[in-house]
Amino acid sequence: MNKMTTYSLALLVVLSILAGCGKEEAVPSTSPTASATTTATPNTATSTTSPVTTATASPQTSTKPVQSPSASPKASSTPSKSDGLQVIAKPESVTVLVNKQFSLPSSYEPTDLVYPDIPFTFAEKIEKRKMRSVAAEAIEKLVAGAKKDGINIAGVSAYRSYATQKSLFQRYVQKDGEEKAKMYSAVPGTSEHETGLAIDVSGSDGKCAAEDCFGGTKEANWLEKHVQEYGFVIRYPKGKEKITGYQYEPWHIRYVGVDTAKDMVAKKMTMEEYYNAVPVSK
Ligand SMILES: [Zn+2]
Repeated sequence: MNKMTTYSLALLVVLSILAGCGKEEAVPSTSPTASATTTATPNTATSTTSPVTTATASPQTSTKPVQSPSASPKASSTPSKSDGLQVIAKPESVTVLVNKQFSLPSSYEPTDLVYPDIPFTFAEKIEKRKMRSVAAEAIEKLVAGAKKDGINIAGVSAYRSYATQKSLFQRYVQKDGEEKAKMYSAVPGTSEHETGLAIDVSGSDGKCAAEDCFGGTKEANWLEKHVQEYGFVIRYPKGKEKITGYQYEPWHIRYVGVDTAKDMVAKKMTMEEYYNAVPVSK
């Protein structure tokens, strides 16, 4: 390995730690701590939407999600006393809604993690290369489909365990304090990467991996157009920052299943809107 390669790899590692949706940067005006006021059940919580979010959530009332209300990923979550986060009761659901309001249980670990057979921007067989089997199969098809269109997609960061997210977050807390850390890093349990159903991708050259400059690249444009055909959605779309609680992340795709993904895209809805769980945090 020559010096240049070593340097590039080191740079990638650093970037993927800084970004990688640990790059789960909050929209500055939305503080996750504000969700501490949400002590009611999810359904009551959604009824306390501000005028803005009510307006954006309204299409939901006239549309029928693929899942029945009882199967709604957030329906059976229970409030946690400590921080207002609601702990998800069915973390293994493929349509599980994880965000600044709904947290995975700290004990949750997917039982079907595998290594998808796709190129990554790094060589090691490590945790962040893993996905749940259903998502792994889907990402393999997506990468193959992109390749047919002359687009080379590579994985940057997929699964992240609660323990990894916790140590990452704690490092930020030590550095900047909890309030500030929450602005740019996901509280353990609330990173979608912990589901094993989300992956950050880039072009195979790793350029702009999990960075804003990925937007507008031919890879990003291809994803915008085609992810739903493979059961994924762009989880944090442009213009929906106030709803998802995250800035536009053209590289972060989430598996929800083909029917759900196509329906969500057709309705131009985020998961929060689709499952009537707006707002995430105020
Ligand atoms: Zn991500």
